[in-house]
Amino acid sequence: MNAQIVEKIRDAGVVGAGGAGFPTHVKVNASVDTVLVNGASCEPLLMSDPVLMESQTAAMVRGLLAVLDCTGAGRGVICLKGKHRKAMQAVREAAAADKSGRLEVFELRDFYPAGDEQVLVHEVLGRTVPEAGIPLQVGVVVSNVETLCNVARAMEGTPLTERYVTVTGEVKRHMVVRVPVGTLVEDVLAFAGGPTITDFVVVDGGPMMGRVLPDTHQPVTKTTSGLIVLPPDHTVVARKVMDPERVRRITSTICCQCSQCTDLCPRNLLGHRLRPHLLMRAAGGTDLTASPAAREALLCSECGICEKFACPMLVSPREVNAQIKRALMQEGVRWDAQGRKPVVHPFRGTRYVPTSRLMQRLDVVKYDTHPGLVEGFAPQVVEIALKQHIGAPAACLVAVGDKIARGDLIGEIPEKSLGARVHASIDGTVTSVADGKVVIRA
Ligand code: SF4
Ligand code: SF4
Repeated sequence: MNAQIVEKIRDAGVVGAGGAGFPTHVKVNASVDTVLVNGASCEPLLMSDPVLMESQTAAMVRGLLAVLDCTGAGRGVICLKGKHRKAMQAVREAAAADKSGRLEVFELRDFYPAGDEQVLVHEVLGRTVPEAGIPLQVGVVVSNVETLCNVARAMEGTPLTERYVTVTGEVKRHMVVRVPVGTLVEDVLAFAGGPTITDFVVVDGGPMMGRVLPDTHQPVTKTTSGLIVLPPDHTVVARKVMDPERVRRITSTICCQCSQCTDLCPRNLLGHRLRPHLLMRAAGGTDLTASPAAREALLCSECGICEKFACPMLVSPREVNAQIKRALMQEGVRWDAQGRKPVVHPFRGTRYVPTSRLMQRLDVVKYDTHPGLVEGFAPQVVEIALKQHIGAPAACLVAVGDKIARGDLIGEIPEKSLGARVHASIDGTVTSVADGKVVIRA
């Protein structure tokens, strides 16, 4: 059973929809006691998960049951916030109707980052993932809502060719829209009525962890969760586009060592030895990785609480941590916990960052409009990236001029590599294979 499920998920090219795109067939090829459905939707404004839990409850549950069967887990817990009332009602009914008795629903508090896998595992199960570890080490697989819907389709032999994307911000119609993978952002925005301002940027992902796109001629990938249109001088955008070297210099100069970044750091509160205020000292030197404390950057999830909520000096510990982490990884440095077991901070329960306050701080309350699901969007052209996942890029199987149908395999996992298959998302003709992308015109 396990091998068959893993193979079907692999064949369908399913990757984690909520994060960096880890291949799902690798993640579920494990033995655990619990599977958590991550429906926290903790990034402000992103609504795809609650909308899917409400509209595709049966598919999500089928996917969850498949992952339970695959991993041998006896317990599947669907985790979401109580504020998503319709989604909550739908999943409660689905869990109650399931005859296997393996499904539960857990109501999360409305805080950020409730969807961080390590935070979620602790909130729901009271288990603490080791420093630099993964939930598997404490007997848990965490899976995103859309990933499970894709697993359900994979069980029926349907490959992953679509993505649900929240479109919001300064755009005429806010929506959660189902689009073929590879659809250009400019086409998605046009479908949503276009931007309401002439000068704008687009954030790919949420306001906390998303990145500013260089332009709108970029394809939607398997991991694109949201497109947020914002003015270029919006507070969410400013730090994301600033020169990283300048951010580091400003941060190390202005930091007053108040340690509020450490006090509110979700990983520190879980007992991990991550103290961003100490890392700010390291940022002032010419050798970023020289100080012994620098290694703690390897424990940073880059959630952004320190930068966008905690720091009274409005500097960027997150960006500095990210720079130190990249430098350490380039040097091949790995975290060594030295046998230390994390001890949860005694004040953790009093240091949640409420989403409502975070949204005020980010100045995005006016974009929090709870849009509905829109389907039936059919673009004329898609540009499908051969690398939309963690691991090696898929090896291209098509050439210019090939006629292909939606669902056809166009990229294969290279032999003995971590990766994910890639499929055509529309019927059409291949017009270009270049720069790691396959262009298909309908
Ligand atoms: S980004 Fe900041 S708050 Fe988040 S884990 Fe890293 S150091 Fe902690
Ligand atoms: S919160 Fe800001 S000023 Fe305070 S220690 Fe952290 S980076 Fe420095």
